Amino acid sequence: MTDLVDVLVVGAGPTGLTAAAELARRGLRVRIVDRAAAPFTGSRGKGVQPRTLEVLDSLGVAGRLVATGRFRLPVCFHGADGDRTVVDLSDGAEPTPANPWARTLLIPQWRVEQALREHLRGHGVAVEFGRCVTDLTEPGEHVEVGFADGAAVRARYVIGADGGASTVRRLLGVAFLGHTDEAHRMLLADVRLDGIDRDHWHIWPRPGGGSLALCPLPASDSFQIQAPIEATDTRPATLASFQEIVDAFLGVGAVRLHEASWLSTWRLNVRMVQRYRVGRVLLAGDAAHVHSPAGGQGMNTGIQDAANLGWKLAAVLTGAAPALLDTYQAERLPVAAAVLGLTTRATDPDPDPDTEAADRAEMRQLGITYRGGPLAPAVDLAGPHPGDRAPDAPGHRPDATPVRLFDRQRGPHWTLYGFDTTPPALGPDVRSVRITSRDNGSGDVVDTHGHARRAYAPRPGELVLVRPDGHIGARATAAADIRDYLHATLGR
Ligand SMILES: Cc1cc2nc3c(=O)[nH]c(=O)nc-3n(C[C@H](O)[C@H](O)[C@H](O)COP(=O)(O)OP(=O)(O)OC[C@H]3O[C@@H](n4cnc5c(N)ncnc54)[C@H](O)[C@@H]3O)c2cc1C
Repeated sequence: MTDLVDVLVVGAGPTGLTAAAELARRGLRVRIVDRAAAPFTGSRGKGVQPRTLEVLDSLGVAGRLVATGRFRLPVCFHGADGDRTVVDLSDGAEPTPANPWARTLLIPQWRVEQALREHLRGHGVAVEFGRCVTDLTEPGEHVEVGFADGAAVRARYVIGADGGASTVRRLLGVAFLGHTDEAHRMLLADVRLDGIDRDHWHIWPRPGGGSLALCPLPASDSFQIQAPIEATDTRPATLASFQEIVDAFLGVGAVRLHEASWLSTWRLNVRMVQRYRVGRVLLAGDAAHVHSPAGGQGMNTGIQDAANLGWKLAAVLTGAAPALLDTYQAERLPVAAAVLGLTTRATDPDPDPDTEAADRAEMRQLGITYRGGPLAPAVDLAGPHPGDRAPDAPGHRPDATPVRLFDRQRGPHWTLYGFDTTPPALGPDVRSVRITSRDNGSGDVVDTHGHARRAYAPRPGELVLVRPDGHIGARATAAADIRDYLHATLGR
């Protein structure tokens, strides 16, 4: 039996990698295993939502994704008569002082995973590929995890981020409630092709639903192809099958497919768990919820599960009460339930015009809130409430160099903003940031144009505590109230 590690993360998809990164950057002993022999090379998720970029920015990996991905890719709908209608699906969504990213970043999922793996390696953690978890027991103060090759690991906690067919979930006996819709099937692939431009996401709608889609994947030379098939169609996912479907939609020879780097058959599964935690084992990402890829939510929801769980698990491992882990389910299960509803509506071939615009805004995930949850005391104030996402704001330092609030939040710490007041020092894991409205040389951030004030609507001398995952923890004018909040949350 090996040494006891703090956390074993099972599954090195985007969820597991983010969870491992959150723990590693807090100095915990973490191992991450994946049953695959090597990193997955298929695109699958190709949209990183603005809120996820903020989470990845806190880890320090958003910059490299933004540098190689693409925010603007108009969709070109091809009509039966050869007409083309070009639409910007994110029309009107532009960055603001409070929201540095407003559009979905197109980039293949494998690039996101690659960036996270490199980040993890910087913390001395390498993914252990070729390790398949087959067994799980919790004999007492730790979990014993067995692998297919007979090896074993002891961990104080385990995160099951092993995808929709999660072994960890099965070993825990947690039900995956919902349904599989055999009528909704697609063939999916990443292919190289010629005959079509890379400046549009090309869609050929089919009457009655189910469109052929060819999306150029930024930071690669491939397209992701999504081809609808009938429930009775047993064609295998081969390059020849895709060519047949493309020819049927576009005419023979219009687009020639070359080699494929990933070929897959997909069917609609809409399922989620009712429990995110069993003892010392926690579920995250697709292991806890699966749904339609329409709207690009899955990878994003998993990454944000991991950001929510990461700081809490680290806090518990360094002294906070284990009950803090129950707030993970309390906060994230309602988000997953809402995502299942949102993506189901997005799959509807005949969307409700009354909800379509709101749904599109919801897909960017900037409105996700934990208001009313166990870590969000109710307040009756203007501006964002506890539980809401903490907005950004650009300002400058006393030496005139630009600085944003998100620059001050980047990292594993809590952030305590003091509006025209010096926040109290509350320990090494709380960064105090004084925001002044005028440059009198005393502020960490000078709110030159009033962006921070507009975003937060603070009362005179107000303190705003921001959690490590970028949500507001508490707002108060008395330092004692902030101390009490931290004491109740972290037990210190
Ligand atoms: C066509 C398509 C388009 C999509 N588009 C988007 C999009 O635009 N945006 C978006 O957010 N999402 C999208 N998604 C969804 C997204 O791909 C998933 O939600 C995401 O991969 C989930 O990440 P995860 O880390 O939770 O699980 P996974 O990525 O499934 O990773 C789980 C890992 O666990 C490993 N594993 C499994 N069992 C074991 C075991 N017993 N032991 C050890 N390791 C194990 C697997 O090998 C795998 O690497 C799309 C999906 C598809 C199919």
